Amino acid sequence: MTSIDPGRVISQANTEPPPPQARAARWRAAPLLRASAALHCGALGLTALRPHLWPWTLGAVMANHLHLVAAGLTPRSQVLGSNWTRLPAQAATKGQIAITIDDGPDPEVTPRVLELLRAHGVRATFFCIGERARRHPALVRDCAAAGHSVENHSDRHSLAFSVMGPRRLRLEIERAQHTLAELTGQPPRFFRAPAGLRSPLLDPLLQRLGLQLTSWTRRGFDTVNGDGARVLQRLTRSLSAGDILLLHDGHAARNAAGMPVVLEVLPELLNQLKLRQLRAIGLEEALAWAP
Ligand SMILES: [Zn+2]
Repeated sequence: MTSIDPGRVISQANTEPPPPQARAARWRAAPLLRASAALHCGALGLTALRPHLWPWTLGAVMANHLHLVAAGLTPRSQVLGSNWTRLPAQAATKGQIAITIDDGPDPEVTPRVLELLRAHGVRATFFCIGERARRHPALVRDCAAAGHSVENHSDRHSLAFSVMGPRRLRLEIERAQHTLAELTGQPPRFFRAPAGLRSPLLDPLLQRLGLQLTSWTRRGFDTVNGDGARVLQRLTRSLSAGDILLLHDGHAARNAAGMPVVLEVLPELLNQLKLRQLRAIGLEEALAWAP
């Protein structure tokens, strides 16, 4: 069984990840974004030289925009920039997986999730909403003190996140980053977009802040489905090392008994991990294996 040490994992790792500034310095736009920029320049030039071809150039630009929107509406898409859908390969070879728990902290659910994780000696990752963290600061500190990763899930979890302009988008991320860093003593290193939806503006912003976008391998749909058996089945069907699992302590659906479904699912999920000899780690620990 894994024992949980106080403090954060990364401080114990030999391979300290590069600071945000170093990551930002190496940033390059994703191939699709570079191709989109080239296409827009080409369309402008062609319109200047051959104005009568405007229906074709406009069509090409619109098709490109549709492609970008479709990519942003696909949470596990890689084409808008780096996006973890699994742990790095080295973590998988060690039999590691990650349990990520979103939308908290929640005063009713989070303490009970922490107790379940403690009883099983398991680390997890809490993607916290900044505004909720300011309302329940002690819960965020409890997560960090128990050795779990505390990461950035935006400031207000706005449904409009994916269509925000550059300034609002930056504030959404930076406010949560500031809140969580103040509460835990360490800035988050991972970001998950609300509902996984994003725009092409997000990638450069995350790189500048030294944040790694993370989606998931499997999710239980536990905000909309209160059937614990079904949620567990979605998470454990084809479960394998390297998977990133998604559950929710905030916005949790209730089962037939009125219990937040994550509390029904988590004990059996943790038992199954043990049976399959998979070790749950916080995302920070996996950062040491990042390319
Ligand atoms: Zn969420």
